[in-house]
Amino acid sequence: MRQIAIIGSGPAGYYTAEAAQKQWGDEVRVDIFDSLPVPYGLIRFGVAPDHQSIKGVSRRYEATSLSNNVRFVGNVMVGRDVTIAELQELYDAVVLATGAPHDKKTGIPGEDLRGVHGSAAFVGWYNGHPQFAELDPDVSGQNAVVIGNGNVALDVVRILAKTRAEFHGSDIVNHALDQLDHSQVRKITVLGRRGPHQIAMTPKELGELGHLERANPHVDPADLPPVEEDAALDPGQRKSVALLRGFTEIPAADREGKSIDVEFDFYAAPKALLGADGKVSGVEIERTRLEGGKAVGTGEIYTVPAELVVVCIGYQTSPIPDVPFDEKNGRFANEEGRIRPGLYCVGWARRGPTGTIGTNRPDGFAVIEKIAEDVGDGAAKPGGEGFDRIASERTLAVVTFDDWHKIDEAEVARARDGAPREKFVAVQDMIDAARS
Ligand code: NAP
Repeated sequence: MRQIAIIGSGPAGYYTAEAAQKQWGDEVRVDIFDSLPVPYGLIRFGVAPDHQSIKGVSRRYEATSLSNNVRFVGNVMVGRDVTIAELQELYDAVVLATGAPHDKKTGIPGEDLRGVHGSAAFVGWYNGHPQFAELDPDVSGQNAVVIGNGNVALDVVRILAKTRAEFHGSDIVNHALDQLDHSQVRKITVLGRRGPHQIAMTPKELGELGHLERANPHVDPADLPPVEEDAALDPGQRKSVALLRGFTEIPAADREGKSIDVEFDFYAAPKALLGADGKVSGVEIERTRLEGGKAVGTGEIYTVPAELVVVCIGYQTSPIPDVPFDEKNGRFANEEGRIRPGLYCVGWARRGPTGTIGTNRPDGFAVIEKIAEDVGDGAAKPGGEGFDRIASERTLAVVTFDDWHKIDEAEVARARDGAPREKFVAVQDMIDAARS
């Protein structure tokens, strides 16, 4: 019997549990820990609330959780309630599937001004993450700037641009919906430090911007490389660039009556966030040009006004004491998922924040191969029974998968019209629902 602890119940964690089941069937026991009382990590707190079909993947994780040899161990913070060293005593393998929950910093002056938010915080706010429920972003100004040219930047633009009606069927939390109802944002500038050929936006997500009720996307035709150069792009990127080209050709009649402008500003590197009285008021930008694929400053400086700035330039993993960390790449130092025998990482904690949800599946299977090499038939460790003893000694309020079902039912029951659920945003409310 092998005993495996997985830390993190997002896609990487669940695909690893599924891989363990496929590899060993009944000869493995898996405990999936999460610091929150609710499972699914990025699916619940990262995937945009208006992308419900993507969230449907959680049904697959539920199937994994309902099997006899996998347990969800919620509301247990590894590092606070139990240490990695203790888990390594109890389990043959400990797998860090902790994702990349922290924002990368731009390192430019003004990042701490009020009104400047990292995407982890802003996305967490509209997705009801307990840590960010109180963020209270100020949407009373007319100008927002979104820094970054990835899919998270697109999510943020959509959330700022959509009408209440367009959120029908989404699980955006009520506190965000209510605040966005009063939004005065009329212009959203999207800053890319490189050009249209270098965007990290995928076609489906970029295409959505062309179909919003009240928002007009704008691209300066002068920023687009000659069309024949698109042939060298991979097919997905070519589609995305074609969409940007399409945005330059939207007929004036189709733009009429739309109150929000989404301006793509390419070759635009933020140099400083400007402020007055501790509150952001604008972004100082340096025009760039590409040299060998890299953005280099041209010395041309200009400013755009901004009362709200959302920095969407990628994420990093949280370091854990005594676990080697790769600072440069913002992930655990590892070789193909092995940190050291007995301790592993998967998903964004292994690779950094890249790829789609599905990319985590092969990751999970690959790490199980490493574990199989290292642990053989298992060392007769106590696994979950040992953890349960610690939990009882420390009176930890562990939330099980059955408890999660109660939280789930309560969230579904209190959903507004057309919404799949209304999430609890306070940990205590989740626990109360679990115990009811
Ligand atoms: P990302 O795809 O890595 O994009 C980050 C963007 O930030 C890039 O355009 C990058 O430009 C820019 N950037 C980085 N450092 C910068 C700096 N110092 N100043 C200005 N710009 C900077 O990251 P993400 O958008 O956070 O997405 C993370 C992952 O989640 C991606 O794999 C993404 O596809 C995925 N995701 C998918 C979906 C979906 O499929 N619907 C939704 C959300 C996220 P450079 O290229 O110049 O570095």
